Amino acid sequence: MATSTKATPSSSSAARGRPRRIVLLGATGSVGRSTVDLLERDPEGFSVAAVVGGRDAAALARVARAVNAEFAAISDASAYGALKEALAGTNIGVGAGPEAVIEAAVREADLVVSAIVGAAGVAPTYAALALGRDVALANKECLVCAGIPFIKTAKRTGARLLPMDSEHNAIFQALGGADAATVERMTLTASGGPFRTWSREAIARATPEQALTHPNWAMGPKITVDSAGMMNKGLELIEAHHLFAVAAEKLDVVVHPQSVVHGLVSFSDGSVTAGLAAPDMRVPIAHCLGYPVRLETPAPRLDLAAIGALTFEKPDFERFPALRLALDVLAGGGGLPTVLNAANEIAVESFLARRIGFDGIVRHVAEACEAALKDGTAREPSSVEEALHVDHIVRERSRGALAATTASGMLTLQ
Ligand code: NDP
Ligand code: MG
Repeated sequence: MATSTKATPSSSSAARGRPRRIVLLGATGSVGRSTVDLLERDPEGFSVAAVVGGRDAAALARVARAVNAEFAAISDASAYGALKEALAGTNIGVGAGPEAVIEAAVREADLVVSAIVGAAGVAPTYAALALGRDVALANKECLVCAGIPFIKTAKRTGARLLPMDSEHNAIFQALGGADAATVERMTLTASGGPFRTWSREAIARATPEQALTHPNWAMGPKITVDSAGMMNKGLELIEAHHLFAVAAEKLDVVVHPQSVVHGLVSFSDGSVTAGLAAPDMRVPIAHCLGYPVRLETPAPRLDLAAIGALTFEKPDFERFPALRLALDVLAGGGGLPTVLNAANEIAVESFLARRIGFDGIVRHVAEACEAALKDGTAREPSSVEEALHVDHIVRERSRGALAATTASGMLTLQ
């Protein structure tokens, strides 16, 4: 495990000498709200340079007031008036539209928390990274869409990418700075989601309500649907490959329904270290916010005796073909992960809008990858701009393809 210094919130800020300046991208989401909860508990330890949201002006204004942010930016340009009005009488600066989001992302800060959902997080996160800002990465789509340019840029600018995704955070802690050459295997655990014990036929017919009921984690809708089909674990394997510079063959997934062990590292001498915690995102978020100083969180403490038994299963690629697809995409490399990510976002949207069935998500993503391989769209993007260009092309195609299947698709699903 990484060496740690246990500290109360105030001693942690004292250890740093001044409050740590944070930019919070995706401040109104599930990760964003958990981050705000921790920031509010330690007003002396942190100051907030900017908060960013997507469309919900009222929610963003509440968050901005709660953490006394200097600037609030909302991606939806038409929400400017509502945000301005909701923040009237405060000193909080207001901006709207994609440029304002970038303006927020590049504000002077010690740490940028990247918690926007989907490829919408790529441009602002990258803008911060390119300036050498340390980034706490919850948004896994950044590394799936543009992993190679992100890692190259982090190396060039000296920016640190701190893993906030719970499995990657556990692995980061379990690694404890060990020499990568001594690592034989990295294992990500997966809860198995709501369909862990369902038949393939039942999973194919799953409704949005069923897919949105996660047994262990309360998360935003996109990642919850990704988790139900284990596409989330597939995205996380690609994320781990980039974050830890580990070969695809050394990466593993084990299903662990209790979500207590989050990640494991197996070393060349047979030792295995693991990261454990109660399933509460405030644990990995706090680890990143304070790093390398440990903060105090109100997260439930792990009581292994009360839990009694931890169980583990092999993932079932037959019932969860998205995991196999993501592994193939990781092995295929190039621009395939960019394609997978974009097609998946549109397919999940279409599923939630009841335009396609649950099994239509992975089917569409596989078709999009095949098409991109054939026509050259899947060649490796050499920059984030190129990756976002591919992302845009694939989204447009996926929207067209899934709109076209709507009429016939829904008939076969009923
Ligand atoms: P949510 O859907 O709960 O929140 C998404 C956030 O992104 C909201 O603040 C939303 O604003 C904002 N947003 C959406 N679109 C845009 C845009 N175009 N520009 C700017 N902001 C935008 O998602 P989660 O918090 O669940 O997940 C966030 C990321 O973290 C995802 O990448 C996910 O995979 C990852 N993650 C999440 C975990 C979790 O426990 N939730 C665990 C590990 C990783 P608005 O509210 O206005 O729409
Ligand atoms: Mg995770």
